[in-house]
Formats: sequence, C-alpha cells, structure tokens
Amino acid sequence: MFQTLQNTAKIEFRIVPDGPILVRAQSVGLDPGVADMEFQRTHRNGKSTVFLAGSGLKGVLRSHAERLLRSSRHFACDPTQTRDLSMCGRRRDDAPDPQMEHPHRGQCPACFTFGSLKLAGRFRIGDAYPPDDLVEATNRTEVRTGVGIDRKSQAASQGVLYDSEIVVSGGFDARVQGENYSLWQLGLVLASLQDLNSGLIHIGGCKARGMGAVRLEGWRVDLGFLDREDGKITGTRPLEVGNNPYRLPQRDTVTVPEGGISGRHGLFRLVTYEGDQVPALIDALIGGPLQRYMERRG
Ligand SMILES: [Zn+2]
Repeated sequence: MFQTLQNTAKIEFRIVPDGPILVRAQSVGLDPGVADMEFQRTHRNGKSTVFLAGSGLKGVLRSHAERLLRSSRHFACDPTQTRDLSMCGRRRDDAPDPQMEHPHRGQCPACFTFGSLKLAGRFRIGDAYPPDDLVEATNRTEVRTGVGIDRKSQAASQGVLYDSEIVVSGGFDARVQGENYSLWQLGLVLASLQDLNSGLIHIGGCKARGMGAVRLEGWRVDLGFLDREDGKITGTRPLEVGNNPYRLPQRDTVTVPEGGISGRHGLFRLVTYEGDQVPALIDALIGGPLQRYMERRG
C-alpha cells in the first residue's frame, strides 16, 4: 500500500466486563465437565486462559463504524455478505461507477480504515489477554445453565438448554494500532471505541439478552508523526503530485487538543494522551475531521 510512513497511532485500554460476556470458542470440546459453550481460550505463558480475539473485536468496531458512516449517507460495504458483489473484497475492478461508492482507490471508507480481503486497512487490532494481575479473576468464569442458544445465530433458541461459560470479572488488555491514517479515520476508530465504552455496542454473543457490555479503562493514546509541524496532529498527506488516488484531505491537521504531552522518539514527533485527557482528543477529532468527512459527498 504505502511505501512511506507518515504517522502512527497506538491506542491502549483495558476491556472490563460490565456484566456477563459470552465469546464462544470456535470448536466445542467433548470434555463432559465443560460447558456446552465454552469461552474462547488460548495458551499463554504455559497456562490456559480466556482471551478476546482481535478479529472479533475488529468485527464489532467495524460493523459499528459502518453504521456511523451509513447514517451520514456514506456507502460502507458489509464484509459478512460474502456473496454481495458490492463488497470491496469481492468486487471486480471493472464494476460500474467505482468512484461513487468506493472513493479510496476502490475501497469504501470502512475497508479503507479496517481492511478488506484485498487490502490491509490503516488500523489493526491485536488479541486482548488478561493482564498478569487479573489472570485468575478473569478466568474465574461462571456457567449459566438454562440458556438455550442457537449455534448459528447465537440467539436464544426455544426448548433447548445449554450450559454457557461466561466471563464476569477481571479484564483484557487491548491495543489498536494505526499507520498512515487520515484524521477522520482516527476519529472514526476512537468514536467506535467510545461507543463500546458507553455500552451502545456490546461484544460477543447473546447481545440481545444484554450480554457483552464492557467498559474501557486506563486509556492511553500515543501518536507519532514524521514531520515538523510542532503543535499539530497531522493526517497522512497525498505524496503523488497531481494525483491523489486515496482521496486524502489536502490539509489534514488539528491543533494539539489540551492535555496532550509532546515528546520525541528518534525521528518521530510524539503526542501522548492518557486517562482523563483522552476525551479532549476524541472530541477534537470527531468534531473536526470526522464531521467534515461525514459531510463530504461522494
Ligand atoms: Zn468495503
């Protein structure tokens, strides 16, 4: 994709259950002592532990971002509709009117941000594991009996009783990383995370039954820029003269919102936000670049 590196972002937070979370394992074990529906698990530091897969977290954030984009009449494809030829990963390059619906070198804004089958996105999300001091608490799972769950829809199915393993305490440390992003994209990712934190969106299964509400705690956002624009947060710039295939904003900058700590690491100019300072950054990105992008047509 990009041969150069212009900016980086690292967004870290702890995902804390605000009630039961159900994230089912891909394969259900045959061990009779284990719940019918086991929580997703992996081995880490020689021990088995529950965890949240980055792919699942990305799916939750992306589908919410798609809804935000569509609410302002921007097209965003749905990658779960694998037969839909308007999906960026499936669409043939000679599809009619690609600029209209897929403004960023053939990708819709959601794929441009989170990636598609064809191209990597600007942001990626790693697997989230319990921190060392919360491994035990997070793995102290509960089993809910009498919850009938349809394996396909993960919705309650009538007359069927299953045992489900749920996480009710502890937490998972998560990290979202971005590279060569426009500021509206950073705003879109942070807005989605904020909506996850406020309970507007949930993770895992049985959402309709209220499961999967979480809070995001201990936020830290590290931004890095390879430029000399001190006092600014800068989006990636179009480099090809007279040609802007990704349709990047020409002057994509915001004055560093209050609370940002400036620093330097090698060639990078750094701006860091932590804890209570993070909302000021999110507000500035949503109210400025993201708002402008949403209002832009075509
Ligand atoms: Zn797409």
